[in-house]
Amino acid sequence: MPDSRPLSRPYIPANRRRILCVFPRYIPSIGTFQHAYSLVPGVRAFMPPQGILTIAAYLPKEWEVRFVDENISPASAADYRWADVVMASGMHVQRRGIQQINDRAHQAGKLSVLGGPSVSGCPEYYPDFDILHVGELGDATDELIRHIDGQCERPTQQMRFTTQQRLPLTEFPSPVSPLRSLRSYLLASIQFSSGCPYTCEFCDIPELYGRNPRLKSPAQILKELDAILERQPQGAVYFVDDNFIGNRKAAMELLPHLIEWQQKHGYPLEFACEATLNIAAIPKLLELMREACFYTVFCGIETPEPAALRSIAKSHNLAKPILESVKILNSYGIEVVSGIIMGLDTDTEDTDGRILEFIQQSQIPMLTINLLEALPHTPLWRRLEKEGRIVADQERASNVDFLLPYERVLGMWYRCMREAYAPESLYQRFAYNAENTFKNRLAVPVTAARLSARNIYVALQILTRLIFRVGLLSDYRKTFWKMAIPAFKKGDIESLIHVGLVSHHLIQFARECLQGEQGAAFYSEKLASAAKLAESAVPSA
Ligand code: SF4
Repeated sequence: MPDSRPLSRPYIPANRRRILCVFPRYIPSIGTFQHAYSLVPGVRAFMPPQGILTIAAYLPKEWEVRFVDENISPASAADYRWADVVMASGMHVQRRGIQQINDRAHQAGKLSVLGGPSVSGCPEYYPDFDILHVGELGDATDELIRHIDGQCERPTQQMRFTTQQRLPLTEFPSPVSPLRSLRSYLLASIQFSSGCPYTCEFCDIPELYGRNPRLKSPAQILKELDAILERQPQGAVYFVDDNFIGNRKAAMELLPHLIEWQQKHGYPLEFACEATLNIAAIPKLLELMREACFYTVFCGIETPEPAALRSIAKSHNLAKPILESVKILNSYGIEVVSGIIMGLDTDTEDTDGRILEFIQQSQIPMLTINLLEALPHTPLWRRLEKEGRIVADQERASNVDFLLPYERVLGMWYRCMREAYAPESLYQRFAYNAENTFKNRLAVPVTAARLSARNIYVALQILTRLIFRVGLLSDYRKTFWKMAIPAFKKGDIESLIHVGLVSHHLIQFARECLQGEQGAAFYSEKLASAAKLAESAVPSA
């Protein structure tokens, strides 16, 4: 009978164990910026994975823990030989990589354990792992540690530990501690809260992490920021919270601490987060975010159509007219990044035109434009399953049987990617933001922390690479220089680097999509043929 009592802390294990924690590769996506990596010295991956690093930090101190992020380099045969237990984690999109980790663990004769969002949402995807850890860090984790301490032979039947009692976030260990350096990552990451009060039809967050956001304390966040700073991050720190304003009061209470931390350390970092668009209706919060140097907010705008937003239970985006909300965020120096979903039941023959019009009006430079995908354990999945509209065809770019013909939806997506990420159009939207958004940011003092030798070296390296790859070799070099020359004249190197890096990735990624090398849905794995199919279906622009 498994023992589900919480571990007494500090837990003193009876046995020594070697735990190999492996995080699988992502498939390339528009939001992971892989085309920017080669422009930044040392960078090989997007950001550190919070979940598996938190688990690694939670394991007994007496155990040896080795962490391998396969986005940086794959785990070696020696890593597997070294380990007693192999732990993996990941999202649905990493399913293939997760399975490969299990295969390698078993080839080496090691016990395999899987936790994280994908297995928590869909344990039935993973019949081959020895142990499944379902749910967040909590009583199941304690049970798992006790089990591994007792024995680490492979069981004859799969075992499943399911969290009933989540560990309060105030008791979470710092996920930064297993890392020696952050220099291989484009961004650092931090988590303040978990869960979201809303119930958007397509989203699995409320069912996986709850509707009542749970929170770390400001003191924990500051300690993690200190640790991030010590490990030399390359750029911004991304708050990976599902919704930074899921608990508005808590966000409001945290921000003065962030401002004070920035002042004390000479504004060494800038921040980014994800939040619902109704953040635009909270001016006091936005003012504090400006003072804390939040430069980017990802908002799941999803669609510019009010009726469509209501139909997917996302009417909280309509607290104010959408374009007005975007402008309000811009007025606090915040660049909006927007999620867009195509293939909704409310889409019509001219949805692509209306999305492109919205992109032009809002002047949002970066949008993650994806096809609707039904995730297990969402209201959308249940509705479509009842309607017989879940399609299990691996050749398709989405598992949803759209109301419009599949080829038509794909054709509209193709057109949006092609036009939104045409270099002229993208650079023009960035130019708008340079004029109307970036200038509204807090005028931060020139401090030793910002002008460190390391920062200057990194900036010079990026500039050199940008000038060579984009300014000399790319077929849109004229467009680049139209932005770069005025930025050089103004001495606005920060904007130049930001626009150059992000645009390079978006343009390259969109081109790969159009050539059929990347996919139309973030969640789907089998996508390479999708855009090719779309190409034959797209009407001329
Ligand atoms: S607001 Fe965002 S995180 Fe919350 S349910 Fe909707 S899509 Fe999910």
